[in-house]
Amino acid sequence: MSAQQKRAIYLDFNASAPLRPEVLREFSVLFEPKNGQTLIPNPSSIHSHGRSAKKLMTQAKDQVALSLGASIDSEQLIFTSGATEANQTAIQSAFDFSKKKFKQPHWILSATEHDSCLQMIELWKTWGGQVDILPVKPDGLVSFEAFDSLVKPETALLSLMWVNNETGVIQDIQKWSQIARSRNCLFHVDAAQAWGKLDIDLNALNASYVTFSGHKIGALQGAGILWLNRGVALKSLIQGKQEKGRRGGTENLLGLVSLGIAAKTLDPKAWQSKVEPLRDHLENAISSQISGSVINGKSAPRIANTTNLVFDAIEGDGLVMALDLEGFSVSSGSACSSGVLEPSHVLLNMGLTKGQAMAALRVSISESTSKLEIDQFVEALKRVVERMRSVQRSH
Ligand code: PMP
Repeated sequence: MSAQQKRAIYLDFNASAPLRPEVLREFSVLFEPKNGQTLIPNPSSIHSHGRSAKKLMTQAKDQVALSLGASIDSEQLIFTSGATEANQTAIQSAFDFSKKKFKQPHWILSATEHDSCLQMIELWKTWGGQVDILPVKPDGLVSFEAFDSLVKPETALLSLMWVNNETGVIQDIQKWSQIARSRNCLFHVDAAQAWGKLDIDLNALNASYVTFSGHKIGALQGAGILWLNRGVALKSLIQGKQEKGRRGGTENLLGLVSLGIAAKTLDPKAWQSKVEPLRDHLENAISSQISGSVINGKSAPRIANTTNLVFDAIEGDGLVMALDLEGFSVSSGSACSSGVLEPSHVLLNMGLTKGQAMAALRVSISESTSKLEIDQFVEALKRVVERMRSVQRSH
């Protein structure tokens, strides 16, 4: 391991959180090797090993249900391969249900949804539906007035992200749920970045579909949850008999058990009380020490661990690479698709220029981040920003 790898500091928790130590600890007991072999049984097998796997799955669902509010029925949870599958299943299910009611079901989603939802727009249209995109205001909040101007009798579905993964902006999801209900449309919430960070009570929220991702809460990657409200239709992306006929394919037992273990450890209030002062320290240090820095979405309610920044006179995507060389893992406002760097659609929709949206920096911390790490990061950021500005000035 090089010196640089050794001291690399991870500040990209929204991309993936580290595995909870409880997960590995419980795994080593639950899946202890026997006769030199580690068996991960198939939960559909009827023998004793299969039955014990099924029991673990049921237990995992109960543990997940407990983290999602009072008296959540675990029968309303479907294990998926992550929030991407859960989002796309929700959208496909809503279309399938609505086409019985409307000739051209209409779907409204916000402009700052995750790519896993945006990818469904063309498909929805190919199926014969109509789509409208809800604009966001410069602070990243979705506009209620814009919804009023777009909604129509055949609006079948509204999709909104609870907490934005790039900016941390929190939508007033309870209010949106009431609005969707008053317009008789289904309401799909992407709660991937809200789980473990905000108090969640799905029965009180009363949405139609809510999606969650395991690796954002310290479970394994490749495991997620779709919660379905009672009476809401489901059309899985994967047909088959597992999950009581609701999703096909041998279940990802390790992923699912890890979800349950991680869910048990969640304590949003404790998380927030540790993380918020660190995030405020980070933002105060940057604002006071680096001139021309702007925090995107600052005036909106934001989740406690996320800071999205742009710096005057810095364009392009060099900042993240330069910080990586300094030993810090953060995220950029640009994403690579087909080998081409694209600016963040979230920031473009909040009114940033293409250059700014490419150059943005997302720092996302956790309760394990220390004040010292933040101070070291701010020092490095200051150096890198000064260096990049002086290079840009000299051109
Ligand atoms: N929605 C949001 C808000 C996310 O942050 C992510 C992960 N970046 C996803 C959906 C997709 O989650 P997964 O990786 O579990 O498919």
